[in-house]
Amino acid sequence: MMKSTLVVLMLITVLLVSSCAPKGVPSEAKRDDFGCWPPSCSLIPDQQGKKLCEDWKAGKQVQWFDCSGFSDFPNCVKLCELEKKNNLQADAGSDWTPFSQSGSESQINNGPDSTSYASQLKEVPPFCVNDNEDHRAQLIYARPQDASDRYDLLAPKIRKWAGQGNGIVNAEAKRFDVNANLKMACEGGKLSVLNVVLTTVTTKRADLYLLTTELRSKGFKEDKVKYMVWYDGIVTNPDGSPGTKAEAWLDNWPTTSFGQPQDDRPTDENLFNQGADFSFVYQQFDGGYAQIAMLHEYSHTMGVVQHSSPHHTGDGHCKDSKPVHLGGQDVNCAFNAAHPSYKPELEVYGDACNGFGFRYDCGNDDYFNPKPEPGSYLATHWNVGLPMNKFIQFDNIEKK
Ligand SMILES: [Zn+2]
Repeated sequence: MMKSTLVVLMLITVLLVSSCAPKGVPSEAKRDDFGCWPPSCSLIPDQQGKKLCEDWKAGKQVQWFDCSGFSDFPNCVKLCELEKKNNLQADAGSDWTPFSQSGSESQINNGPDSTSYASQLKEVPPFCVNDNEDHRAQLIYARPQDASDRYDLLAPKIRKWAGQGNGIVNAEAKRFDVNANLKMACEGGKLSVLNVVLTTVTTKRADLYLLTTELRSKGFKEDKVKYMVWYDGIVTNPDGSPGTKAEAWLDNWPTTSFGQPQDDRPTDENLFNQGADFSFVYQQFDGGYAQIAMLHEYSHTMGVVQHSSPHHTGDGHCKDSKPVHLGGQDVNCAFNAAHPSYKPELEVYGDACNGFGFRYDCGNDDYFNPKPEPGSYLATHWNVGLPMNKFIQFDNIEKK
């Protein structure tokens, strides 16, 4: 029953496509999605994206929006462009945005999952720093001494996640015709991932302070380096229960808490523009959203999000997009429920992105804008998207 409905729908689609397609284009009985969709549409965090996927898979005619919204997913750009070319109805909804049909918010919690939608993100090679002279991120695989060594398994994944995180930054800058890449330590032509065994922590007990203290004692304290650590274990609360899944430590920060007054000066002497900082992503992210978490925490060490910015939360994040785990797009938008200033009623998000895929600053008005409007907030405050940031390599920017 279901099957025959599908066939009829597909036939209609094929008929519509072939009637408007130029002669000579073969119509296919089975449509190729070019690898755009995940195995199950339910893996797509964005509600409209999920519906688009379901409708498409059901053989329905779908209304594609701007194909460039898929820039993080090249296979979907291909599919979108082909369908728009072949689909008479495609351009009818030019003012259609994926969040315009409000009312149903995504309830999906993808969690750590190797088939997460984020795992499809495009990898873009970071900018390789091969010496000790330049500013850079250093990838580290760290484990407690009582855990087995998974370096050989994890190091290639850590490189991939770093490349996927860089892909998000790179895609954001491309919107401004700027080529931006995270500067990262390389060795032998690939990203360097150090293998570090920690002796002051165990699989049962670890915390940010112990991790940072031991790493610094091992010499990871160069002021030109921000250490991007993937820790093969969990951190624990004082009562032994599992702690947070990812966090950052700002080594040179003048106050003890990230929520304190920050340095938003638009100068290369900005305190965020140096090491030695640490961004940690813990074992829970193995295989799912590690790339998002790595970029998120690393961004904190670069000064994202300032408490003077238009859509800040007061705890180092932005609120003009839902967080990624709630189906939003901005990798740095969220409220930190563990922060002293947190109240559940504060947790209200805007919808500045209205698109698809992951973004590095929805609206480009809070932390990343390679070409800020003169006089705007990001033209007059610390802006991670400008060449004054020593930890991102910029090209194709007009020199002053
Ligand atoms: Zn955060």
